[in-house]
Amino acid sequence: MESFRYNPRIRAMRPSASMALMAKAREMQRTDPSVIGLAAGEPDFPTPDRICMEAIRAMSEGYTHYTPGPGLPELRQAIRDKLARDNDIHCETEDILVTPGGKNAIFLAVNALLNPGDEVILLDPSWVSYEPIVLSAGGVPVHVRLDWQASYRVTREALEAAVSPRTRLLIVNYPNNPTGRVLTPAEADVLESFLLDNPQVALLSDEVYEKILFDGNVTVSMASRERVRERVITVNGFSKCAAMTGWRLGYLAADKRFMEPIYKLHQHSASCVSGFVQRAAVVALDCQQEMEEMRRIYQERRDLFVSELNEIPGVHCESPAGAFYAWAIFDYPGLDSNGICTYLMDHAGVVGMPGSEYGELRASSMRFSFANATEDMVRAGERIKSALLELPR
Ligand code: GLU
Repeated sequence: MESFRYNPRIRAMRPSASMALMAKAREMQRTDPSVIGLAAGEPDFPTPDRICMEAIRAMSEGYTHYTPGPGLPELRQAIRDKLARDNDIHCETEDILVTPGGKNAIFLAVNALLNPGDEVILLDPSWVSYEPIVLSAGGVPVHVRLDWQASYRVTREALEAAVSPRTRLLIVNYPNNPTGRVLTPAEADVLESFLLDNPQVALLSDEVYEKILFDGNVTVSMASRERVRERVITVNGFSKCAAMTGWRLGYLAADKRFMEPIYKLHQHSASCVSGFVQRAAVVALDCQQEMEEMRRIYQERRDLFVSELNEIPGVHCESPAGAFYAWAIFDYPGLDSNGICTYLMDHAGVVGMPGSEYGELRASSMRFSFANATEDMVRAGERIKSALLELPR
């Protein structure tokens, strides 16, 4: 057979590094069960019992067929109420689409809204799937390299250097994966005035870590800003905050003129999300206490792991304000992000993510998920420390 030349847009994409390193950790654990996998951004907690029981009940009640394409009315209403209550986002039920995961919601929005050649601004370090999703739509990713020495603050100058008449979308993600930063009111002001001055640009706000905030920190939802809300697409999901990664359940909220093409694409791809999963999601939205308990434990793990990292000469880790990642900067001559990552895999038995996968090209860096058992975080910290102490500096 002649060599098969597939879609050039897909050829241009890198495979997902987080999926690859998750698989790598599992493979290593088969021969050495002591390997600790901190690459996956996946809660180690089971999905709260109430949510599972509701799924089982719904399945036995017959929620096993197609549902209305945009989602079950009771779930869309519950999401609308949640957005108003928790995020100060005031929209109608019709502005909400239930999707198979937050990642899919982003894929739909980007693919439905971009024209080939449209530019999309990404604020690096940024999650590994934004760029490939932009490429899948024929878009052009434009990377704004935020500076770790300035705490990755969003500035007007950085946005101005990236914007052009072809800019169609700006993607933001707070609490941030991988840095754990939140969006401060001052940075939200920067984004708001940038949008007001650039009417050709829409903003996609990925808020999937919204409930995982530490030390009383808060983060701004851009769709709460009245003057720009019509141009903001809010994406959220159940994977991270309710420990439901495997259920594949997310949603987006967007103005009707965005929703029309997005929903059309959804109709021709997923059709709808499983009914019993959606019924369970209504209960998940009510699980504030369970989510709070998980958040509290993440905070304990963050404290012990981040302080262990900071005790190592040559390692700097800001305490993250949200999400469940420790983002560490390394100062070991000759070792870039991949070098450190490989070294720790081989000498500490700890699998993390190299920072270069998130577009951090100026500093040697790594992301470690602390959504893992507390004992594993303690062991990982100790092993990283003793492995790095062997290195010359
Ligand atoms: N979002 C998670 C992460 O960053 C899960 C893996 C993925 O979808 O990339 O690790």
